[in-house]
Amino acid sequence: MVDEKEVAVIGLGPGGVAASIYLKRYGMTPIAFERENVGGKTNKTDRIENYPGFVNGKGPELAMALEDQLSAFQIKVNYKEVKKVALNEDGTFKVFYGKEEKDFKYVILANGVAEKPFDVPGQEKFHKRGFSGCAICDGPFYKGKNVAVIGGGNSAFQEAIYLASICSHVSVIAHHSNLKVMKGVLDKFNALDNVTLYAPYDTVECDGETSLSSLTIENNETKERVTLPVSGCFVYIGDAPQTQFVDIEGVKDGKGFFVTNELMQTPVKNLYAIGDCRNTALRQVTMAVADGSLAATMIHKDYQSR
Ligand SMILES: Cc1cc2nc3c(=O)[nH]c(=O)nc-3n(C[C@H](O)[C@H](O)[C@H](O)COP(=O)(O)OP(=O)(O)OC[C@H]3O[C@@H](n4cnc5c(N)ncnc54)[C@H](O)[C@@H]3O)c2cc1C
Repeated sequence: MVDEKEVAVIGLGPGGVAASIYLKRYGMTPIAFERENVGGKTNKTDRIENYPGFVNGKGPELAMALEDQLSAFQIKVNYKEVKKVALNEDGTFKVFYGKEEKDFKYVILANGVAEKPFDVPGQEKFHKRGFSGCAICDGPFYKGKNVAVIGGGNSAFQEAIYLASICSHVSVIAHHSNLKVMKGVLDKFNALDNVTLYAPYDTVECDGETSLSSLTIENNETKERVTLPVSGCFVYIGDAPQTQFVDIEGVKDGKGFFVTNELMQTPVKNLYAIGDCRNTALRQVTMAVADGSLAATMIHKDYQSR
C-alpha cells in the first residue's frame, strides 16, 4: 500500500520547490529528488530581473533562497537522480532513484530542460575545451579575454551582458536577424561598447590546439566569412527535452516535452508536469512557480475528495 499523502517531486528548480512548499503547507508529504543543486537553472543565470519582488537579483542568490525556504519548511532533499518513472498496474507509479525504488500515488515531474547540443567541425581536436553552457559558472575563467556567445534569444543576450562586464570583448552570433529578445535586454546590450552582434550568422568551424582559439562564422545570406579570435564560447541555442526517464505512453508531445492541461495534469491520472519540462509557451521562473503551486493544489484537492 502506498502512503497517499506522499508526493514524489522530481527536480527542485523553482517549480519543484514551489510545489514542495505548497504540498507541505497542505499537510501532504513531498518526497523531493534533485540530482544537482536546488534552484535548477537559476544557479546558471547571472541576473533575474523579471521575477516580481526580486529586484536586480543574482540567479544563484534566488537558488540559495529557495534552498533556505525548503529547510525552513523542513522539506528534506534527496540528492538522487531519478532514473525511471513507470506506471504500475494499479495506477500508482514506481520511481527508481539511485539503487532504490518507491511507489507513489502522485508524481510531479519538475525536471526542467537540457540545452540543445551544439556541434561544429573542429571541436573534436581539443575535446570541446573552451565551450560552455553556463556564463556565470565558467565566465570568470575568461576574465579579460575575447569570448563569443551563440544564440539570439533572451538567455544569450542576458549572459552576453554579464560576460561583457568581465571579458575584454563579446561577440554574439545569432542565426536570424529577427532576434527573439526583449527590447529592454537588447537596449542594455546595445549600450555596451565592448560587444558586437553578428546576425544572421552561423558558426561553421572552430580551431585551437588544446582549447578553443577561434571561431569561423558565415553570414547565412551573403556567405561572407569572418574568423573571430576567441578563447571561450558560450552556447544558448534553445531547450531540448530531457524526459526519456519517464517510461509511460501518451505523456509526451512530438518534440518530447510533457503534455499537460491547464491544471498541469498529464493525460495519465495523478501524473503532473510543471515548469520548463512541459509543452509551455513560456519557460520562465514565474511560470514554473505558478505551475508548481497549481499542481500541488490539484493533488491536495484530489487527496481530500477521497
Ligand atoms: C541563461 C539563462 C537565463 C535565464 N534568465 C531568466 C530570467 O531572467 N528570468 C526568468 O524568469 N527565467 C530565466 N531563465 C529561465 C529559468 O531559469 C527557468 O524557466 C526556470 O529555472 C525553470 O524552472 P523549473 O523548475 O521548471 O526547471 P529548472 O530550473 O531547470 O530545474 C529543474 C531541476 O530538475 C533537476 N533534475 C532534472 N532531471 C532530474 C532527474 N532525473 N532526477 C532528479 N532531478 C532532476 C535539475 O537538476 C534541476 O535542478 C533563464 C534560463 C537560462 C538558462
